[in-house]
Amino acid sequence: MSATETETPADIALRRLLTLMVHETPVARASVGSLLHRAWGPDPSATSTLAHLGIRPVRRCLYAGEQNEVNSGCTCANCFNERLRTYIPRLTAGAAIWLHTTRIAPLLRATDQEDFCWEAEISRAGTRSRWSVIIGGISGRAVWLTRETIDRCS
Ligand SMILES: [Zn+2]
Repeated sequence: MSATETETPADIALRRLLTLMVHETPVARASVGSLLHRAWGPDPSATSTLAHLGIRPVRRCLYAGEQNEVNSGCTCANCFNERLRTYIPRLTAGAAIWLHTTRIAPLLRATDQEDFCWEAEISRAGTRSRWSVIIGGISGRAVWLTRETIDRCS
């Protein structure tokens, strides 16, 4: 997406998140957006790097049809964690992320010169969880952002 007058502050905030460069290893850096696309791939190393930042990628349900509805009883590998015997929390059937906005906010603020509330703007682009979601071993409220929303800004 190029910068246009129709671009909302939420779009700008989301693009800032996706272009954020983070350390994948002590010597290698990658953008959050490129890590996300690998994690949806799936790439476990990208998934764990993102989890440390407060981002939990959720892969597309293997049985997701044309409609983006959640089949709450689905036990496919992307909806059900066989090892932990728990359902993977999701709001839609497609690929998405759970974002812990409070944890990601300092990273976004650190790169920003202006007074801009990244946390609130990114939250506006998604759907807030009504329950706690575990991200990188830490439980808390999170925002669900679909891959469609994210791809629109990358
Ligand atoms: Zn599924």
